[in-house]
Amino acid sequence: MLRKSLILSLFVLLAVPAFALDVNNTPVPELMSVRARRVLAVPDILGLKTLKGDFHMHTMFSDGVVWPEVRVMEAWMDGLDAISVTDHLEKHPRKEGVKEDDNLSNRIAFPAAVQHDILLVKGAEITKDMPPGHYNALFVKDQAAIENEDFMKSVEEAINQGAFLQWNHPGWKAQQPDVTNWTDEAETLVKKGWVHGIEVFNSDEWYPVVLGWCMERNLAVMANSDMHGIIRQQYDLTRVQRPMTLIFAKERSLDALKEAMFAGRTVAWFGNSLAGKKEYLEALFRASVTVMPPHTVDRDGNRVFHVSNPTDLPFALTCPAAGWKDSILAPRTAVMLKAPKGTETLQVSVSNCHTNLNETLTLELVIPAKKDN
Ligand SMILES: [Zn+2]
Ligand SMILES: [Zn+2]
Repeated sequence: MLRKSLILSLFVLLAVPAFALDVNNTPVPELMSVRARRVLAVPDILGLKTLKGDFHMHTMFSDGVVWPEVRVMEAWMDGLDAISVTDHLEKHPRKEGVKEDDNLSNRIAFPAAVQHDILLVKGAEITKDMPPGHYNALFVKDQAAIENEDFMKSVEEAINQGAFLQWNHPGWKAQQPDVTNWTDEAETLVKKGWVHGIEVFNSDEWYPVVLGWCMERNLAVMANSDMHGIIRQQYDLTRVQRPMTLIFAKERSLDALKEAMFAGRTVAWFGNSLAGKKEYLEALFRASVTVMPPHTVDRDGNRVFHVSNPTDLPFALTCPAAGWKDSILAPRTAVMLKAPKGTETLQVSVSNCHTNLNETLTLELVIPAKKDN
């Protein structure tokens, strides 16, 4: 019997190339990657749709090294809903090779965005020395008209076009090497109502102090890649998702995205950390995490139960009363935890969810009663 099947499989092995080989043109399918989009498991919250976006990236039309369509393809592969191509208005180092036109990168990206169902936010980066630094003008109409030597005039034009203005990388060491300082220009913009969000995270840098500024002034927290090269060269997507801003919108559309960003309904997600307003982080946590009823009691009388997280969001739980310290609840896993006998609720700190400078999310976890068998 064994010999028979061996002979049979040998026959199949030998036979396949003879049948499949086309001497003119034979495809080699094992070389190909599966053309599929990552489906990110991030829950909707508060009756709103959670959109995933990256609102800062470059192409060959400024100092990036890719053609605009590549940005759309990457976003599609990585499970994003929205991107903004934000080439520098004042920097065109490749103008010998590509046309110097502030509107062109978005125009080229647009058909690809339609084809891939990615919401493309028209944007540009206003690029000045520090202060004021760099600002992205998002949801604009005509990038070329925004370019101006005078920073305030540049911003004014962007605002007249309906821009959401984002202060980029305030803690970038090339511009603020020692201390990440608030600036007079930012203060002026806040007073005029002309700045709407700040990057608490850019590329691979997180600026905790900036989260404090956002909370104090009620500005949207943003996390963006500021990608110049290619996403797969920069981030290890086998371990983490690329950095992104989560936006809680009434629907998946450009108008709803814009409304949500102006309303500050965002959370920054970078590596194993999340940052944003307490109400959104708590809602994300509660929509992601389930505490199971205790399934046993250990020899010290502690109740033993599972806490599960079927989403792609990471959480780290600390509860001194139960002896948990940074118990990692990684994406799509469950952990087994213990609580002292008789404990029905626990005060938990979610130590990777940052709600303010030096503040993390705290909440009450209820251990559900064990169901009778
Ligand atoms: Zn910049
Ligand atoms: Zn940039």
